[in-house]
Amino acid sequence: MGKRPRTGKSTWTPHRAVERPVRRFLSGTPYRLALAYPASYEVGMSSLGFQRVYELVHEADGWSAERFFTGGAGMSALGMPRSVESEAPLTDFGCVAFSVSFEEDYVHLLQLLLRGGVPLRWRERRRDDPVVVLGGACAAINPLPMAEFVDVFALGAAENLLADLLSALAEEKDREAVCERLASRPGFFVPAFHDPEGADLPDKLRKLELTAAQMAAPGHLPTTAVVTERTEFASKFLVEMSRGCPEKCRYCWATFGMGKFRWHPTQYILESLERGRSVTDEVGFVATAVGDHPEIGRILTEAHQAGFRAAVSSIRIPAVTDEVLAPLYAAGGRSITLAPETGSDRLRRALNKPIPNELLLEKVRLIFRHGFHHLKLYFIVGLPGETMDDVEAILTLAGDCRKILLEEGVPRGTVGHIHLGLNVLIPKPYTPYQREAMEEASSLKRKISVLRKGATALPNVSISTMSIRQAVWQTYVSRAGSDAADVLEEVARGMNVAAALRRYGERVHEEVYRELAGTLRWHFLRTG
Ligand code: SF4
Repeated sequence: MGKRPRTGKSTWTPHRAVERPVRRFLSGTPYRLALAYPASYEVGMSSLGFQRVYELVHEADGWSAERFFTGGAGMSALGMPRSVESEAPLTDFGCVAFSVSFEEDYVHLLQLLLRGGVPLRWRERRRDDPVVVLGGACAAINPLPMAEFVDVFALGAAENLLADLLSALAEEKDREAVCERLASRPGFFVPAFHDPEGADLPDKLRKLELTAAQMAAPGHLPTTAVVTERTEFASKFLVEMSRGCPEKCRYCWATFGMGKFRWHPTQYILESLERGRSVTDEVGFVATAVGDHPEIGRILTEAHQAGFRAAVSSIRIPAVTDEVLAPLYAAGGRSITLAPETGSDRLRRALNKPIPNELLLEKVRLIFRHGFHHLKLYFIVGLPGETMDDVEAILTLAGDCRKILLEEGVPRGTVGHIHLGLNVLIPKPYTPYQREAMEEASSLKRKISVLRKGATALPNVSISTMSIRQAVWQTYVSRAGSDAADVLEEVARGMNVAAALRRYGERVHEEVYRELAGTLRWHFLRTG
């Protein structure tokens, strides 16, 4: 099913000019895959998952991948998306595979298909239209809102799915044959052949996670394939540390949906730095729980000794130790992010995050004592059982952290800054909160307003908040069934989200503000 490239006006030249591939990738191969990230180049290239698939496709015999993004240069010329590698249009490819980590990007995915000339719904596609594949975290949370648009959902790690996908694409004559073949393979949900909302499937469809045994073997460590300054982690070589999380916070999909906590061997992580060194001296260690790698201290120290400036994505509060902070600071780090989630010990225990404020404040002192000057603290409002006292406790906690910031910073003459990032609870599939209703907008508004006012009154403290509309939209597209297709399509075709939420108000209300009972519609997948 591979097709030949066309030439066209170059729109990605400035991006290509500053790309530093960690190794050489072949082009002009017999088979080519369109690999798309439904957000800007900068966001897509910051995704280690996306970079990993790009590398794995090139490692497959006879295959290369060409990247597509929404927004940015590649979308500007006549509105037609073109690939970064050869400026080819989407319709030149036998398959477009999307990596999707955030449900809000569904609309961008549909816009990319629309602008690329691919019929939106799979029922409208012809046999020789591209096969539309969706992989990444969203495929295995609740694929149903996208089930009218996507031919094949790839459930799990690319390492376990690409071989089947690429051989079907190379060997089958058309789109329908590819879909039929993949429907019989483990790890694929193919809406034309599986009907989770109608008759029961004989067996649940299984997500094929990267296992601990695979991670312990060579060749399974995701690292950046192409380093570029045009990403959120400018010029960093990213290395994955682990998967899952040792904690079980009740709202968190990353821990319930990604399997048991497991980590990559230190040896592979340190060896990978040699590959990165050819293009950069900056490394970013990423995972949901970076600090819980059993040898995090050694890895950070050795990376620093090898001449790298190192940063980490996020650290669980108990994993903040001298052993982690000292090498991070020495390597140039000045900012740390923690997620207390709520201000009171009581509510944090109810979330299954039994970390008392006392411990958090000790860790905050340690952070500022090491010389870090920026602290980001993430909180959630709208949690089950939350009272106004819990909400006000967030401000008390922020005030206590600020006191420590001053106590540690003033004598040194460098007073830093604390930022509060406020999210609204999205009751996600596969978490213990999956049946919860989202809190009513009026009470969320009150809570957010109290926090905004209180935080603004604290010097050296800033706050950013998720909008309630964004939270409603996210909850809707996380939990809805396939009838969400109409809503998503309208938004993709130009209706704004606020208007869509009004127009489909009853439908949205039913999904978002109702406690769910009985069998949940996404339980046709076996995940976690
Ligand atoms: S510590 Fe973070 S990643 Fe781990 S379960 Fe809690 S929220 Fe999720």
